[in-house]
Amino acid sequence: MRLIFLGPPGAGKGTQADRIAAHFNVPHIATGDMMRQAAARGTDFGLKAQEYMDRGELVPDDITNKAAKDRISEPDAEKGFILDGYPRTLEQAFFLDDALEEIGARLDRVIYFRIMGAAIVARVAGRRVCPVCKTNYHEVTHPPKVEGICDLEDAELVQREDDSPDTVLRRLEVYGEQTKPVAEVYSSRGLLVDVDAMGTSDEVFGRLLALIEK
Ligand code: AMP
Repeated sequence: MRLIFLGPPGAGKGTQADRIAAHFNVPHIATGDMMRQAAARGTDFGLKAQEYMDRGELVPDDITNKAAKDRISEPDAEKGFILDGYPRTLEQAFFLDDALEEIGARLDRVIYFRIMGAAIVARVAGRRVCPVCKTNYHEVTHPPKVEGICDLEDAELVQREDDSPDTVLRRLEVYGEQTKPVAEVYSSRGLLVDVDAMGTSDEVFGRLLALIEK
């Protein structure tokens, strides 16, 4: 199963990609997570990516494409994957076409997470992440068992640097300018399906399963 999750920041793609990947036993490949991990390790790629992430801008296509292609070419992705946050530009989408052709793979579906602007702001404002295992929480909709502490790692939860209000606004603009056209391309190929991303995590998960298993 090869799926792409598309949608604005705060639509719940990461949370759902984790759940769907676990359910179908395929890797969840999130370029944003890869970049944050590389930045934490201090690699050249990570440090370069960090400059753009902090501003809410997209990391340049050449280094993003290389990282994504390397990752989907790994053995665990042979049986499929959930791509979350990639592709985000037309150039990335066309690069992915070629990369998939090279490994003899085909996309099954592109799932578009539909959500209203006000819900995005509320979701992002309450979003917290474990700095150790990267599990996502939400202060209201998905709180940890002990306030402010990860259920799995006993670490104090943090807010992502780029979840600050100004940076989220810029990320939304960038999304409208550069990522929306990607959805249009997949729609014209008949690959795009919408999921209503409003509601609880369980509700959205149920809708996704119904869509995927159809
Ligand atoms: P995310 O975790 O998907 O919200 O991504 C966080 C940030 O990482 C984005 O705002 C970008 O700066 C960067 N990023 C993640 N994926 C990509 C991508 N496919 N292309 C360019 N930049 C990306």
